[in-house]
Amino acid sequence: DIHSRSNFQETDSDFEMTLRPLTFTGFKGQNKIVENLEIFVSAARMRGESLDHVLLHGPPGLGKTTLANIIANELGVGFKISSGPVLDKPGDLAGILTSLEENDVLFIDEIHRLSPVVEEYLYSAMEDYRIDILIDKGPSARSIQIDLNPFTLVGATTRSGLLTSPLRARFGINMHLEYYDSATLTGIVLRSADILKIKCEINAAEEIASRSRGTPRIANALLRRVRDFAQVKGNGSIDKYISTYALEALNIDKYGLDEIDNKILLTIIDKFKGGPVGITTIATAVGDDPGTIEEVYEPYLIKEGFIKRTPRGREVTELAYQHLGRKRAGNEQG
Ligand code: ADP
Repeated sequence: DIHSRSNFQETDSDFEMTLRPLTFTGFKGQNKIVENLEIFVSAARMRGESLDHVLLHGPPGLGKTTLANIIANELGVGFKISSGPVLDKPGDLAGILTSLEENDVLFIDEIHRLSPVVEEYLYSAMEDYRIDILIDKGPSARSIQIDLNPFTLVGATTRSGLLTSPLRARFGINMHLEYYDSATLTGIVLRSADILKIKCEINAAEEIASRSRGTPRIANALLRRVRDFAQVKGNGSIDKYISTYALEALNIDKYGLDEIDNKILLTIIDKFKGGPVGITTIATAVGDDPGTIEEVYEPYLIKEGFIKRTPRGREVTELAYQHLGRKRAGNEQG
């Protein structure tokens, strides 16, 4: 399925690397965030100091990794990548921290998934650029202190609600990425087409953008698939006709909703008469956890007007009924 998020990361990672902007200027959208980061980065550069630790939160595919990379680039320092689940043991963290050079950027993706022990070690590293490592066991156990170079931690999370408050408090800069509007996404598609040397008409780019769930990662992946259709079924360039043909053939939702989005809407309609229904009940019925529904899926469904929040729970809107070809129960008689 083209919209399944985990697929994208693996199969499209080389492709994603090629399309990743390397400077603030190349990064489209998220204007407030970028403006502020540019100032903080310049100031840190002028002082020759490390940038404050940065927390980036927001749904997948909106550019958190890309921004972290740009920060390092614009600071003119080295960049190391890891992730919460990979930093399994304190030793793993110590290894990566001691390898950092002065003012380097360390990016930790899915930082909400760090184990509590590793997180503890991170506190003193972030605060004092120091870690205390316990060596040996039993009576000969002792702790040694390792001094680190000053560095910037950029943490990314899709689930900011799962971050502990001591960790959150240690980030001086805290930013939330929003879904992209259609015009910005169109710009991203055109830029990507340019890099990939694909001819793409503006109205075709607009169509790809409108079906991308407000997400650059999806927009780029759709562009790649549409390019295949243009090559095989057309003359290689992407126009409105070929993009519509390809997106229909690929069964891409007109609004860019993915399988789980649609499942959430259908559940509320079919099992709960359109709502209102509580988030936990929805989550149980869909088979996902309430936090993920609330932080990853629901914001887009609300933004696009498919779901409303009411004091008694979530309700689907008329648009959801129309989109899924369902009729509101009770409206049918007469
Ligand atoms: P995240 O870390 O939030 O999951 P990524 O930084 O990996 O997202 O971005 C996914 C893809 O989308 C990357 O290939 C990147 O090229 C592209 N992308 C994200 N944001 C932008 C943007 N603002 N401008 C251009 N391309 C972007």
